[in-house]
Amino acid sequence: MAECLFCRIAAGEIPAKIVFRDEKAVAFEDINPQAPVHVIIIPKKHIPTLLDLTDEDQSIMGYLYVVANHIAADKSLTESGFRLVANCKESAGQEVFHVHIHMLGGREFGWPPG
Ligand code: AMP
Ligand code: ZN
Repeated sequence: MAECLFCRIAAGEIPAKIVFRDEKAVAFEDINPQAPVHVIIIPKKHIPTLLDLTDEDQSIMGYLYVVANHIAADKSLTESGFRLVANCKESAGQEVFHVHIHMLGGREFGWPPG
């Protein structure tokens, strides 16, 4: 989608610190990190919100969790663990309307989240 920020990052039109890329998914450093490790993991397919997922998207969304495991290994998070977060629409704080998972690590996290 031409005007979508994350589609443009995936296409290489907007610079980002890419940490993973293949034919299905891209992951890059968050521009405003909330933890020592803060990576955004996206499908290449433009899907605005979690509410727009269909049956055909099951495998790609599952794949994003596999990508997270690769990044966990690269970022030395497999011992400490990490948090994955997906915000859906305004009340949850979604600002970029291309489905994504936040991968946060490198510090302790509270629960419940704010
Ligand atoms: P959300 O609020 O769940 O939609 O998350 C959007 C995330 O994208 C925020 O954590 C932003 O800091 C991050 N972000 C916005 N613009 C960029 C960018 N150009 N490069 C990397 N991350 C970005
Ligand atoms: Zn998009």
